[in-house]
Amino acid sequence: MALLIQNARVWNGTGGAPFLGQVLIEGERISAVAPQAEALTADGVERLDAGAKFLMPGMVEGHSHLSFVDVVRGTSLGEIAPEDHTLLAMDAARKVLAAGFTSACSAAAAKVRIDVAIRDAIEDGLIDGPRLLAASPELTVTGGLGDGRRHHIYQESFGIPVDGPDEVLRTVRLCLREGVDTIKLNLSGDFGTDSAPADAAVMTDSEIAVAVEATHVIGRRVAAHARASESVKRAVRHGVDIIYHCDFADDEALDLLERAKDRIFTGPAIGIVLARLEGTRGDNSRRGRAAHDRVKRVYEASCRTHHEMRKRGIRIVVGGDYGFAANPQGTNARDIEHFVRHFGFSPNEALQAATRTGGEIMRRGDELGLIKPGYLADLLLVDGDPLKDVTVLQDRRRFAFIMKGGVRYLPCADTPHIRRLH
Ligand SMILES: [Zn+2]
Repeated sequence: MALLIQNARVWNGTGGAPFLGQVLIEGERISAVAPQAEALTADGVERLDAGAKFLMPGMVEGHSHLSFVDVVRGTSLGEIAPEDHTLLAMDAARKVLAAGFTSACSAAAAKVRIDVAIRDAIEDGLIDGPRLLAASPELTVTGGLGDGRRHHIYQESFGIPVDGPDEVLRTVRLCLREGVDTIKLNLSGDFGTDSAPADAAVMTDSEIAVAVEATHVIGRRVAAHARASESVKRAVRHGVDIIYHCDFADDEALDLLERAKDRIFTGPAIGIVLARLEGTRGDNSRRGRAAHDRVKRVYEASCRTHHEMRKRGIRIVVGGDYGFAANPQGTNARDIEHFVRHFGFSPNEALQAATRTGGEIMRRGDELGLIKPGYLADLLLVDGDPLKDVTVLQDRRRFAFIMKGGVRYLPCADTPHIRRLH
């Protein structure tokens, strides 16, 4: 099975200018990339004239929550039974692929085994979705982000409350036993959590240390929710692999991130912040104004920090906590526009964050995220020029096809889904 895509504007993910060229795909991989003038062929090859459309690597969602199923609040996730929840996550997986994201690095699941089950079903070809790295639920301290309980009522949410090194260790090992690739820890609080504000480093050194040790000893990774400056420093010092948000990072924290830049990944997940900023605007009640001010502080800190991180060459991935009502699954490509509009990325840099850096956070930088011989054929053929206007990637009707591992998908006209081309 060979496919020759000809007459495409090939942007290969390395940051160079696109060129008119052709890409040969054999099986699930790219076997050759050449300028249009060169003779390129293979036995029994099917030819596809791209009509000078833009060919780019499939995008990578670097902060994915496939089991966050467009709810308003976290405790709504706790009310969904595991069976229903898994099917809803399957639907989200299809929407994310249909949005042009052929890989996703999960930043937490709402229940222990959902990501694991979805990852394996996608890998086995049972369901359509992005290549997935599965995460645990968010391990959080009592009163932290994702603890839905109150003293008078028990409620599940998307976190597992853990206090003290023993509880952390037991829960980390349980999640690892159930098959997650990534352990998620909520080191700081958040803008909507009164008992754990965004700028408070609520998880202690000893709690973080045991989680990282137990995860690294079997070669898996730890990701952190870390808005507070001190939480970023703890994450770097304890060897956390993926450090999300980093909004309030001070100079010392930025220096630590920079020194660890070959080892770590970061991601702002600004999509949810912007959605909340918009959602709290115009609420003039006392609580409404306070909520808006808290989000605004995070937004402003995030912009300042990510301008600086970009200049320092720290790896930043696209992915914005999609999976809430105000920030639904399938709208993930908005993040690329956010990078350009709020963090000073050029369109080319933002696209590299979504492709090449994405391949690296998937731990597959040698076969994902670029258009290069030997790489997996994860490609998007786009009607438009994302280097001139990144918002074209938000319109799935612009995808002439979405390809994952050499298999072509077409966006459906009237649903946010896709259809596999046989
Ligand atoms: Zn998240």
